[in-house]
Amino acid sequence: MKLDHTPPFKRFLNTNPYELFKNVKTPCFVIDEAGLIYDGKILKDVQDKTGAKILLAQKAFSNYDVYPVIEPFVAGTEASGLYEARLGKEEMPDKEVHIFCGAYREEEFDEILKYADHLVFNSVNQFKKYAHKAKAAGKSVGLRINPEHSTQVGHDIYNPCAPGSRLGVTLPAFIEGMDEETLKLLDGIHFHTLCQQNSDDLESTWNVVEEKFGPYLSNLKWINFGGGHHITRADYDRERLIRIINHVQDTYHVQVYLEPGEAIVLDAGYLVTKVLDTFDNHDYHIAILDTSAACHMPDVVEMPYLPPLYQANLEGYNYKMRLGSQTCLSGDVIGDYNFEKPLKEGDMLIFGDMALYTTCKTNTFNGMPLPDILFLHEDNSIETLASFGYDDFKYRLGRRK
Ligand SMILES: *Cc1c(COP(=O)(O)O)cnc(C)c1O
Repeated sequence: MKLDHTPPFKRFLNTNPYELFKNVKTPCFVIDEAGLIYDGKILKDVQDKTGAKILLAQKAFSNYDVYPVIEPFVAGTEASGLYEARLGKEEMPDKEVHIFCGAYREEEFDEILKYADHLVFNSVNQFKKYAHKAKAAGKSVGLRINPEHSTQVGHDIYNPCAPGSRLGVTLPAFIEGMDEETLKLLDGIHFHTLCQQNSDDLESTWNVVEEKFGPYLSNLKWINFGGGHHITRADYDRERLIRIINHVQDTYHVQVYLEPGEAIVLDAGYLVTKVLDTFDNHDYHIAILDTSAACHMPDVVEMPYLPPLYQANLEGYNYKMRLGSQTCLSGDVIGDYNFEKPLKEGDMLIFGDMALYTTCKTNTFNGMPLPDILFLHEDNSIETLASFGYDDFKYRLGRRK
């Protein structure tokens, strides 16, 4: 299948988004059905060519109203804990539910067993504590391993293979803890070491997994490659991914799972915002927006990254403006962008690639309102999925009255 890139704003090649969004209340998130389908088709193609199963990692995106759009393209959902497992079971009930959690709470475990089909444990200790019970309930159980092979440079916050990591069982811990009896219970292994990466990093990771854990792989039923695979990105080498999956499945007779979050909703959302004020600080031209990096797109600050902005940074555009928020946090700046001409009060701005790690990470710091969540259908009609107000700010802080 030949697929050209969907740049974040390809949707607007024949549609004027300022016109399309002229009546929406800002700030708001807009989830793009066309983007979800574009990504979904790529993921379906990989599954069709390999027999691998792809799960939606809900921590990246869990706007369940649009799960019916995603569902035909995935085998199920992946959860980071009880709530996400329940959400996956409730909102994609006919599909598989997988869960990985840093450590499970005793009082939650029985409820988790109601929702999850596959349970992945983060330590030998936790595996020994819960695996029997899970198997007795008919579940499949696995261990997250840590191959200790770092493929990311520069941001350890997203590197589970960094020294001292709490995520995944290292080979020495595996050898020491997994006695013969315990090994018999093990249905699968899981590794999650990538973040926005290509399949060359998956390949080097797999080679280390095979080298270190090779003797244990043949008795497994499944191997879960985790998330962080940027499969739907234009320059992602899908042929290599397909080769790796086929190699693993043919060699070890296992079912391969992948659980990307980002790739499933890449470039499938926007954040629409308006300029509230503009002024200068010496040589800097500042615009204050009605959105906030810290509250509405925290990864911009955390990761950090510069989100794509419609009609900015184009060739010949050289009026630089710093876009920031209403909040009192000095660092609540989205970034510096070049425009054709100075922005003015009331101008609409449209940030791209805003479906992932946004709607599920918002907060109301500074009393900032939560952006409404809209759904842009393929036919350009717009549906409001959720709208928020003062109550959403207040009642997460105290008694409802
Ligand atoms: C974060 C995470 C994912 C999804 O990662 P993406 O970078 O969004 O693809 C999948 N599995 C686990 C265990 C994770 O922690």
